[in-house]
Amino acid sequence: MTVKQFEAESKRLLDMMIHSIYSKREVFLRELISNASDAMDKMYYRALTDDKVTFNQSDYYIKISTDKDNRTLTISDNGIGMTKEELEQNLGTIAKSGSLAFKKDNEIKDGFDIIGQFGVGFYAAFMVADKVSVTSRAVDQDQAYHWYSEGAEGYAIEEATKETVGTTITLTIKESNEDDDFEQFLDLHQLQTIVKTYSDFIRYPIKMDLTEEKLKEGTEDEYETIVEEKIVNSMVPIWKKNKTELTDDDYKNFYHEKHYGFDNPLTHVHVSVDGNIRYQAILYVPETAPYNYYSQEFEKGLELYSNGVLIKNKAPELLPDYFSFVKGLVDSEDLSLNISREMLQHDRQLKLIEKNLVKKIKQELKKMLMNDREKYETFFKAFGRQLKYGVYSDFGQNKETLKDLILFYSSTEEKLVTLAEYVERMKDDQKYIYYATGESHARIERLPQTEIVRDKGYEILYFTDDIDEFAIKMLMNYDDKEFKSVSSVDLGFEDDATDEKVASEEDQAIFDQMKEILKGKVADVRLSKRLKTHPVCLSNEGDISIEMEKVLSMMPD
Ligand code: ADP
Ligand code: MG
Repeated sequence: MTVKQFEAESKRLLDMMIHSIYSKREVFLRELISNASDAMDKMYYRALTDDKVTFNQSDYYIKISTDKDNRTLTISDNGIGMTKEELEQNLGTIAKSGSLAFKKDNEIKDGFDIIGQFGVGFYAAFMVADKVSVTSRAVDQDQAYHWYSEGAEGYAIEEATKETVGTTITLTIKESNEDDDFEQFLDLHQLQTIVKTYSDFIRYPIKMDLTEEKLKEGTEDEYETIVEEKIVNSMVPIWKKNKTELTDDDYKNFYHEKHYGFDNPLTHVHVSVDGNIRYQAILYVPETAPYNYYSQEFEKGLELYSNGVLIKNKAPELLPDYFSFVKGLVDSEDLSLNISREMLQHDRQLKLIEKNLVKKIKQELKKMLMNDREKYETFFKAFGRQLKYGVYSDFGQNKETLKDLILFYSSTEEKLVTLAEYVERMKDDQKYIYYATGESHARIERLPQTEIVRDKGYEILYFTDDIDEFAIKMLMNYDDKEFKSVSSVDLGFEDDATDEKVASEEDQAIFDQMKEILKGKVADVRLSKRLKTHPVCLSNEGDISIEMEKVLSMMPD
């Protein structure tokens, strides 16, 4: 047979992948199992949309077997299978996810459970195998095909015979060497452990023929070796398990299994509610923002399951914008399975779930803020801006939720502080929460206006984010203390209420001249008693500060 070259970028990606994408090579099994599970879900989807097809979940399973003599590991499924073209397209081009194309072809933006999104999972097989062979027969097809590759060199496709619809993948496992033990991937008991760790919750049974020493019937001390086909995964989704059965690692593994991100989650929340609407949820706060997080492209949402079956990949209804960074899923047995059309009717239920989730996320973040400040700062650096947008864009409840979660840099503490901490430290005679706006801390420190406030011994919050001052204007006050810019005319000092001072005639003449020269640039030139070491400063009248004006003038109309 003729060998076809992988597309050039595929070759490079394959190499990168084998060496770096996955930190542990055992995850190849997770990837192949989730592809098999996806393939069976695709059959399920067919049945939902095509009356001629019926789907009996109990008929579907994944089988794992090994052959130590030939050094092969085989994973087979009776899912939807692949045609010759699909083998070529899905396995011949890395990073061209067939699952993604499937979703597009079926015009379901958020269909159901298809784990694959990156289109690189299959190639993880090459981390442990020298040769990978795939025999597949697609649904509605009589002819099966055999795809075969020895790695970066390319692949070949030929006709094959296969009795049943589905896919069988055979890996020829690499020889072990001093550094690497590959024998574990030929040992069913060790493979069982890997399945348990990474794929336990897969909805379909994963079967293995396991050997066991058993007492011979009718005897008391004679043993015999019995081979028994066993289901090795519990099939109970992690979110249906009891929290006490699960470790942090289980949650972390699940985060990666679901491809929520390449980072590690900072924290997770596992919710199980047994009230009017019964549901379970697992929510994660990621460590880093996705590259497109602060852009239009980013789509928020949680996965939505109905009793273990994914019905929506991204349900935006479940998260408010200000918590859009949260990843995870919700499973409710009280939602009907029939997808989009009926979705609307569940709106009210989803709203209730959302409300409760918001409460849980807020609690979790508060807990982090109290108990692990460093972690919270990591979180805040990634997503704090989003929280501040939340304060800004809300006229109702968000402000209450969010005001205790936002941090600002403090002039006296020289670190990020909460508003509560600021208020706690306020001087007896201090009426306002003072802030100064600028591009950077260094710039703010040089602002002439900060001097007099600092001299009073008052703490100043530094606003360096465009959104900061806007957010604070919406918040209006914290704990009944109003916010005050150090540049405002009236700083509200008890002994010295305003910046007004009567200039001598001589001075006034100079000011008038200055005003004339700066016409159109400044509204007035005045004598100030606020300046100490600086000769001049800019200040604003009214509600819109100079910094805010800058931001506003940059916005499209
Ligand atoms: P992803 O799963 O992210 O799409 P993969 O590299 O894991 O990417 O798989 C590539 C594609 O190959 C899948 O999207 C799917 O279309 C196809 N595929 C892989 N394994 C199977 C399988 N067991 N049965 C049917 N199709 C499969
Ligand atoms: Mg995959």
